[in-house]
Amino acid sequence: MSDVSLVLRSTRVITPEGTRAASIAVAGGRIEAVLPYDAQVPPGARLEDVGDDVVLPGLVDTHVHVNDPGRTEWEGFWTATRAAAAGGITTLLDMPLNSLPPTTTAAHLRTKREVARPKAHIDVGFWGGAVPDNVQDLRPLHDAGVFGFKSFLSPSGVDEFPELDQEQLGRSLAEIAGFGGLLIVHAEDPHELAAAPQRSGPAYADFLASRPRGAENAAITSLIAQARRLDARVHVLHLSSSDALPLIAEAKRDGVRITVESCPHFLTLTAEEVPDGATEFKCCPPIREAANQDALWQGLIDGTIDCVVSDHSPCTTDLKTPDFASAWGGISSLQLGLPAIWTEARRRGRPLEDVVRWMSTAPAALAGLTRKGAIEAGRDADFAVLAPDETFTVDPARLHHRNQVTAYAGRTLYGVVRSTWLRGTRIIHDGALTEPTGRLLERTN
Ligand SMILES: [Zn+2]
Repeated sequence: MSDVSLVLRSTRVITPEGTRAASIAVAGGRIEAVLPYDAQVPPGARLEDVGDDVVLPGLVDTHVHVNDPGRTEWEGFWTATRAAAAGGITTLLDMPLNSLPPTTTAAHLRTKREVARPKAHIDVGFWGGAVPDNVQDLRPLHDAGVFGFKSFLSPSGVDEFPELDQEQLGRSLAEIAGFGGLLIVHAEDPHELAAAPQRSGPAYADFLASRPRGAENAAITSLIAQARRLDARVHVLHLSSSDALPLIAEAKRDGVRITVESCPHFLTLTAEEVPDGATEFKCCPPIREAANQDALWQGLIDGTIDCVVSDHSPCTTDLKTPDFASAWGGISSLQLGLPAIWTEARRRGRPLEDVVRWMSTAPAALAGLTRKGAIEAGRDADFAVLAPDETFTVDPARLHHRNQVTAYAGRTLYGVVRSTWLRGTRIIHDGALTEPTGRLLERTN
């Protein structure tokens, strides 16, 4: 224990074995040991006693659109990682699209890494992209350390990142399965979308009708079939349609290698409450009805849905026009995901340990981040210190992401992040940030 530089003490530390009073000994940026609460502090080590505030493992957000370089007026590594740190997140994985270039070749990945490195307040890793013309780039991207590959089955919203048709999906998935990689999929079926009624204007009901549950259900059905045929590992991004839960549960029972995420907006906001023209609530797939949300929570509780990640997808305020058909689709929530989910979990009688599993342990496991996602010896000393019973009202001016558009403005949420720690260093404390010390992560499995 001679190298221990820090002991973090709390009456409530969330460990894989449950919540208990403990002292966490940190050496060299790692958790050396989780000791009894009143353990002696080794000579030379600093004691930080956070009292009754809860210490949880730093959150892992595997679905973030940082858009840097290329659309940095939408977001950037400096602002996104700052917002993440303020929200208790210590690791994020950047999506391969909306930046220019998109992360579809190893050369583009190098560009992204160079841009991110000096700006990262937290640890950052990258997803690659699978687009129609880059099958030959997938293996080099995998070897260069991306955590997996994202593809769309319907138009992505940006021209430089086209969707795959079923044949192209099969070809890319076969290639990825060949080297043991992971395909993560935006699952909405283009034919079902084309058949849905398309009406522009400020009415949310019209937008919701244009992105029916059937589009998600059909795309997930075909994805399961492809994964089953190729014995490939796939992950469904941002599940919104609760109708797809039985399909996914059945595939899991059959041994299909499929995991699923949902997002704070699907689990805490409802279609019924979206005001006309309020396109800060627009995303694809869309926020659906309250009954759908209840079913998603059931899927989360029974394990059909594995994790909850933000899908933080910001843009400049001018792109959020009041017309739901033409406004940019994407919800900014990096800083608010933890309190939003905790508030709803609490209301539904679920403990904070569940939130930690959904937002830290499971996403770390999805990405193969074996040093993240739990408070136990050997893992990185990444922590969020949370006052779970304290509330705050969301003030857009206090958000750290670049464009302070949010669907959560004015909401009162439980859970104040007091401080966030990255490899044993406090990177934010009562809202004040240090200089960036985040590292760039590569897939290790
Ligand atoms: Zn996304």
